[in-house]
Amino acid sequence: MNSESKFLIVETDPEDIMWLLVTGAPPRAYCKKHTVPLEIAYDIFEVTFCPVDKKEFSFTNEYSIQQRLVEHLGNREALSKLKFVRLDSEGSRVIARESVDLLEEWWIEAKASDTSSGVQLMVQIGKRNESGKKVQLFVDTPRQRLGFDFSDKDTHPAGKLAEVVVTFKDSVTIIKAKDN
Ligand SMILES: [Zn+2]
Repeated sequence: MNSESKFLIVETDPEDIMWLLVTGAPPRAYCKKHTVPLEIAYDIFEVTFCPVDKKEFSFTNEYSIQQRLVEHLGNREALSKLKFVRLDSEGSRVIARESVDLLEEWWIEAKASDTSSGVQLMVQIGKRNESGKKVQLFVDTPRQRLGFDFSDKDTHPAGKLAEVVVTFKDSVTIIKAKDN
């Protein structure tokens, strides 16, 4: 089979309903019990029923609207699995990327970008299995400057690290936790 298909269950639907999602076709409601597509009859009102036992199902919306809703849900699910690619408007280009997986407790990721003002290095350090703040360092090589983010997601380097030493061409910058 070329196209992808799967069943989706919508919380707000009546029980025993599942939707078959096939790429390139509108979703179809199925009776879960008999695994058959529901049939729709139009009297004064729209009636959706299982062709096997004639059980009627009433959706919160008209069938065609529900169909579109389910299609959106399916797309949203598929989209959530896609990776984000960030494009920098300043035109900086990532030239190197490295992540350290050797440490059991910590993760470290580094990214070097070629920006209009020269090569910039970003280093992120965080503790595994911890939703707490990470440290985000910026090494600005042309200006020989060490910076960091301080936000609700990022902590001051001294909050996590004993010492950060960056050696530039002509200078050394150190961030060190204060001795108490
Ligand atoms: Zn049925």
